[in-house]
Amino acid sequence: MDANDMGRDLSKVLISEDEIAAKLDELAAAIDRDFAGKEVLLVGVLNGAVMVMADLSRRIHTPVTMDWMAVSSYGSGTKSSGVVRILKDLSTDVHGKHILIVEDIIDSGLTLSWLVRNLSSREPASIKVATLLRKPEAAKVEVDVAYCGFDIPSEFVVGYGLDYDGRYRNLPFIGTLAPHVYGG
Ligand code: 5GP
Ligand code: MG
Ligand code: MG
Repeated sequence: MDANDMGRDLSKVLISEDEIAAKLDELAAAIDRDFAGKEVLLVGVLNGAVMVMADLSRRIHTPVTMDWMAVSSYGSGTKSSGVVRILKDLSTDVHGKHILIVEDIIDSGLTLSWLVRNLSSREPASIKVATLLRKPEAAKVEVDVAYCGFDIPSEFVVGYGLDYDGRYRNLPFIGTLAPHVYGG
């Protein structure tokens, strides 16, 4: 995607590449402080968290292992329903491990609260959550987010792993999609 495509599809750059990098430095430092002397299993939620996982994990000095889950949250259009299906499960036995779930964005929080319940039932030593982005709706759900990059407004964003209809994941920044792209 070149600058012209970007100008057509996005209404603005919400969070720049540099701002993301600086925030990930902060989050990684906090994770290193909190997990000192432990090993952490980073659980990335496919597909959106790929960029966050890659860039956050490379800033963490604590020993980590990494695994991935893919879930689909049934729902229409841009809203999730809380009914979740596992598309790809972990390859790791998490029993007794310190899990850090790595998410791209928390909107309603329904996907995440399901995931935390599901992983808790496998008896890990602990579960914490890191997310790059969080929308205001997430406040209504009882999921404690230990590490949050940015609280953003209730707008549909793309880039840095986040898609609309499979596209825009490769943008290095977070942008707001122009309404005409999704038929608005
Ligand atoms: P929740 O269950 O918290 O409502 O939904 C979380 C999932 O919905 C995210 O992992 C993401 O796939 C999708 N989602 C929520 N808000 C946005 C957004 O603004 N942009 C994009 N691209 N996906 C979003
Ligand atoms: Mg996600
Ligand atoms: Mg998506």
